[in-house]
Amino acid sequence: MTSLNDTLFTNAQRVIPGGVNSPVRAFRSVGGTPRFFERGSGARVWDADGKSYIDYVGSWGPLILGHAYPPVVEAVQAAAAKGLSFGAPTAAEVELAELLCQRVPGVEQVRLVSSGTEATMSAIRLARGFTGRSKIVKFEGCYHGHADSLLVKAGSGALTFGNPSSAGVPAETAAHTLVLDYNNTAMLEAAFAKEGDSIACIIVEAVAGNMNLVAPRRAFLDACRALCSRHGSVLIFDEVMTGFRVGPAGAQGLFGITADVVTLGKVIGGGMPLGAFGGRRDIMQSIAPLGPVYQAGTLSGNPVAVAAGLATLGAIAAPGFFEQLGTRTKQLTDGLTAAAQAAGVAFSAQAVGGMFGLYFRATPPQSYAEVMTCDVAAFNHFFHAMLNEGVYLAPSAFEAGFVSAPHGDEEINATLAAARRCFDQLTQK
Ligand SMILES: *Cc1c(COP(=O)(O)O)cnc(C)c1O
Repeated sequence: MTSLNDTLFTNAQRVIPGGVNSPVRAFRSVGGTPRFFERGSGARVWDADGKSYIDYVGSWGPLILGHAYPPVVEAVQAAAAKGLSFGAPTAAEVELAELLCQRVPGVEQVRLVSSGTEATMSAIRLARGFTGRSKIVKFEGCYHGHADSLLVKAGSGALTFGNPSSAGVPAETAAHTLVLDYNNTAMLEAAFAKEGDSIACIIVEAVAGNMNLVAPRRAFLDACRALCSRHGSVLIFDEVMTGFRVGPAGAQGLFGITADVVTLGKVIGGGMPLGAFGGRRDIMQSIAPLGPVYQAGTLSGNPVAVAAGLATLGAIAAPGFFEQLGTRTKQLTDGLTAAAQAAGVAFSAQAVGGMFGLYFRATPPQSYAEVMTCDVAAFNHFFHAMLNEGVYLAPSAFEAGFVSAPHGDEEINATLAAARRCFDQLTQK
């Protein structure tokens, strides 16, 4: 039987580099043919061959209410009928900005953009413009979108400035980025002792979700906050993934730490292209037209995306929403851990709100180096076995997973039953 997925992938590779519009979708790290999705509803998606899957990717985080949640779809339809874009202010974007200022700690003013990458790129420029400094600090394994300053890996020495992690990024640009180890407080303190007064900002995922999931050490986040305050640097929490995902006030709410600038994306657009960056009023007022930091966008505050965002943020404000989501996610990770243990597979898992990490190693990793010790071959085998069972996990051992509101008992139990068979296969190999 010929597979429509295979045909589509062949056609795609002719006209799109690698057949995909974002690299991880190509299944390179797990092997095989990516699934082309035709539709989604609730916790499930259907591929081009008509096979259904319980989805734990959720478009990489935005779909906290599941696929095609009717109130969000209706809000989008109603907004679209009134005009797709104006390039002028609208009442709805003010309403969304007010909501973000109310719900995200430390955000006094906010600007809307069209992606997470735009949000972080603009936040970095803002921090540099506000402080008059060029150097920035990021952490190995954290991902902040694909702007030049952020596609940087550690330099040759511990505290030397970075090298490009992508071709096309000028070495001169990367040389302004200091890449340190996540969760390594001593290293961060040493860097600030040496360079502190020339550092514009720290940008950090307060729960790291782009090297699988790495939970922060409390002391590490506290040090980020204290060092920025002491040295006049801007603390940027990149909450593009964690915002409205790990809790109603994001990672800031979870840890009781307030950043100076916060970047948002994913959930705030409910599946439409929408990002935002916001923070302290004195910092935000450095942006044009008030200040000298230039930032703009033809489709910024797009009314259709804003409508999806408002409908999503409205729905997740329901009492108990995050308690329920957190309970479901933990039910999944506890169940997977038990299933692996029963099969004798070295495995661990953890949940933070509606985000989770699966690790083919005995304990959850606390650093990028520990993430790299996970058994990738075991993950890849498990991934394909689960895919065959109708469970769609992220197609890489180094991505976090997401549970959405419509993942109920039925979906979680079906996933765990599939996982028991798949873990057993791993040990019988
Ligand atoms: C997804 C993500 C981004 C990039 O957002 P895009 O919308 O893909 O540009 C930035 N930072 C973090 C933490 C992310 O998870």
